[in-house]
Amino acid sequence: MIKIRKWVRDLTTYAPGKPIQYVAREIGINENDIVKLASNENSLGPSPLATAAIQANINEVFRYPDGLCYDLKEKIAEKYSISSDRIIFGNGSDEIIGLLYAAICEEGDETIMAFPSFAEYLLIGNTHKVKVNMASLKNFKTDLNAVRKSVNDRTRIIFLNSPNNPTGAIIMRDELTEFMNKIPNDILVVVDEAYYEFAIGKPGFYETIDMLSDYDNLAILRTFSKAYGLAGLRIGYAIGSKEVIQAINNVRQPFNVNIVAQIAAMAALDDRKFLKQTRKMVKDGMDYLKSEFDMLNLKYVESYANFILVDLKKPDIAEMLLKKGVIVRDMKGYGLENFIRVTVGNSDENKKFITNLRELMEHR
Ligand SMILES: *Cc1c(COP(=O)(O)O)cnc(C)c1O
Repeated sequence: MIKIRKWVRDLTTYAPGKPIQYVAREIGINENDIVKLASNENSLGPSPLATAAIQANINEVFRYPDGLCYDLKEKIAEKYSISSDRIIFGNGSDEIIGLLYAAICEEGDETIMAFPSFAEYLLIGNTHKVKVNMASLKNFKTDLNAVRKSVNDRTRIIFLNSPNNPTGAIIMRDELTEFMNKIPNDILVVVDEAYYEFAIGKPGFYETIDMLSDYDNLAILRTFSKAYGLAGLRIGYAIGSKEVIQAINNVRQPFNVNIVAQIAAMAALDDRKFLKQTRKMVKDGMDYLKSEFDMLNLKYVESYANFILVDLKKPDIAEMLLKKGVIVRDMKGYGLENFIRVTVGNSDENKKFITNLRELMEHR
C-alpha cells in the first residue's frame, strides 16, 4: 500500500456541476434531453471565431505552446492599456489561484474569503496547508468590514469575487477604495472577475483595472470560461503588479497554457458579435427567470452575472430537478439549505427548467 500523507488523505475534493453524460447514465435518459444549468457555462456554445481559428490551426498542435503567451499578453495589454509585464495566463484562472498560494503563502499562513463564495479559494488553500478564514456575506453581498476584521498577522491573501459566485452581487468602487486604503500593503487583495463581461454597463459597475495603478497589492483574475464560452479549453489570466506577476511566473509550469487555448482566446477577444449575443441571451433569460420567480413568489438575489441564486423555500428541489434531467447547483454545502444557483441558459433551457420547477413547487 502506498502511504499517502495524512493531511492529503483528509482533503476535500471539489464537487463540480455534474457532467451531462453522467446524469444521462444515472437516470437513463438521452443526453440531448438533459439541460445543464449548473456551471455558469455559455449556452450559446463557444465563440465561432474561436472554433474557426482552432480548425484553421489544428495542425500546429505538434508544437509546444508559447510558454509566455506572447501574442495574447500583447493583445490584453493593448486592450486595457497596461504594460504586458503585469499580465500572466494560466490553465484556467483556477490554476492562477493555486500559483498565488504557491508564490505567496508559507505553511501556516492564512487567507480570507467571503462565505459563501467560490469554493476553490478554500480547497486550493487547503492543499497548501493554509488556513482559509471565512467572512460571512451580509444581505448576500461581500461584507468588506467583516473581511477586514478577519485580518491578522498571518493574513497573506484576501480573495474577493465580484460579481460574487454564487450570489451575483458586486462590490462597489467606493467600498473597494476605502477597503484598499485600510488594508496593510503587504496583503495581496485578489478581485476575481470571472463574470466581468456580464457586469459591464450595469448600474454601479466600474473597472477595477483602473485602480491597479494606485495599489501594488491589488490583482485581478479573469477567465475565458464564462462569457467567451471556452471552459473546456482552460484559460484565464491575472493582472497585477510586476512583482506579483513575476512571482507567479516563477512557480508555474513552463507550458501551462495549451496551444489550442491560446489560439481560441486570441480569436475570441475579437469576437464582439458573439459577446454581444451572449449578453443579450443572458439579459433576456434573466428577465424571464425573474418574472417566473416573481409569479411563483420566490425570492432571488439581483445578479450581475450569468446565474441567479433563488430561495425555493424547501430543500431537495435540486435533486428532484436532476431526476427530470435539469442540472442546477444545490446550495446546501454553502449553508443555504433551500437555495439553488441556476445558470441563465438559452430560452429552451430556461423554459425546461421553469416548467419542471413549477411542477415541483405546485405538486408538493
Ligand atoms: C468559474 C469561475 C472561475 C473559474 O475559472 P476557470 O478560468 O475556468 O478556472 C473562477 N472564479 C470564479 C468565481 C468562477 O465562478
